[in-house]
Amino acid sequence: MFEKVQVPTAGQKITIDGDRLRIPDDPVIPFIEGDGIGPDIWAATQHVLDAAVAKKYGGDRKIVWMEIFAGDKAQQVYGEGVVMPEDTLRAIPEFVVAIKGPLTTPVAGGYRSLNVTMRQKLDLYACVRPVRWIRGVPSPVKHPEKLNVVIFRENTEDVYAGIEWEQGTAEVGRVLEFLNTEMGRNIRLDSGVGVKPISVTGTKNIARKAIRYARDRELPTVTFMHKGNIMKFTEGAFRDWGYELAREEFADLTVSEAELWDKYEGRAPEGKIVVKDRIADSMFQQILLRPDEYNVIVTPNLNGDYISDAAAAQVGGLGMAPGANMGDFVALFEATHGTAPKYAGQDKVNPSSLILSGVMMLEYLGWQEAADAVVEAMSKTIQEKHVTYDLARQMEGATTVKTSAYGARIAENLA
Ligand code: NAP
Repeated sequence: MFEKVQVPTAGQKITIDGDRLRIPDDPVIPFIEGDGIGPDIWAATQHVLDAAVAKKYGGDRKIVWMEIFAGDKAQQVYGEGVVMPEDTLRAIPEFVVAIKGPLTTPVAGGYRSLNVTMRQKLDLYACVRPVRWIRGVPSPVKHPEKLNVVIFRENTEDVYAGIEWEQGTAEVGRVLEFLNTEMGRNIRLDSGVGVKPISVTGTKNIARKAIRYARDRELPTVTFMHKGNIMKFTEGAFRDWGYELAREEFADLTVSEAELWDKYEGRAPEGKIVVKDRIADSMFQQILLRPDEYNVIVTPNLNGDYISDAAAAQVGGLGMAPGANMGDFVALFEATHGTAPKYAGQDKVNPSSLILSGVMMLEYLGWQEAADAVVEAMSKTIQEKHVTYDLARQMEGATTVKTSAYGARIAENLA
């Protein structure tokens, strides 16, 4: 079935049945260890997730892990230059749910971002990032507990789609010629050029997923974040198509902020989700000044990149922020930070981002008891001040421990 991937003899596949997932008690879940600090944080994560499942379900449930490869390790297994093997791109949709550590992206030149490649090839159009405070985590703000949002970042379009031409090449010359002569623009001839596509399809896919999420979890608001005052036909259209989707597909369930004031004196009717929008720069102020007015934020790719990191910083930093890339069913859970190459192999960094991505994965499987147990145990470990360097340097009287020791302590604290 695969060139190099060993499919375990035990375990069963997760399957898609109509509009639901069928989760066996022993799902086979592919994992990518990742580059740089990836192997360290993956080892801690696997240990914690296995311990939580064993603790909550005894022998009745068990994840059967299957290693797949990308980045540096793929080159070791498949040969030099092979950083994203076909096996990997086939295994993820085949097994539906997967998890990964960070992967290196060479800056300027080399290969394109492997993360972006995976998102595009597997049509993982939603990057979902829950941001909430875990008790005990040091934070730069007075009330970190007030921020509890889930960010839905469109994952396949925008300037992130990688459609760009390098300054000085024949290709950019042709693009500039077209734009300056046929389209009447006046762009400097020594420019590089990138394209920002935003489609009705991409926008409505992410908006639908976000409103469904708010519906399923009974959250009161969904906010479109955009820079539509400046980029009218891309980001402005994103906002308009978002509202349109809410009206078309969720008319009974949603009310726009404008209607709220016109018809309901500013108070949302029972059970309705308020759909609103905010300009991107204002959104950054809002999450700091009025964080509790936001539950779900939906936004194009680049805004989503920025706001996710800013929001994560507010509740204790990137080392603590989980994420997932999702299509309609296929979900790839991942740490949101990078490979932190200067710490590679030192058993030093904080594995919480990947562990909490594992928590999201457990929730996606419907294994809520195990997911909650991990969050509780992590919170306890942090309140005991038994933490990695990044948290220790923000806490008084903390004991700095290695990645593996932090993971082991979380596993011991599982209740
Ligand atoms: P980075 O790897 O996220 O690291 C930047 C800094 O963030 C680190 O030096 C460290 O700060 C802190 N940090 C990151 N992860 C941490 C952890 N688990 N625990 C504690 N601190 C952590 O960002 P980068 O240096 O810009 O990127 C390095 C490589 O990763 C690049 O090749 C980039 O393309 C790639 N990347 C991959 C992904 C992905 O796979 N999803 C995402 C982002 C970046 P201190 O030095 O202050 O301790």
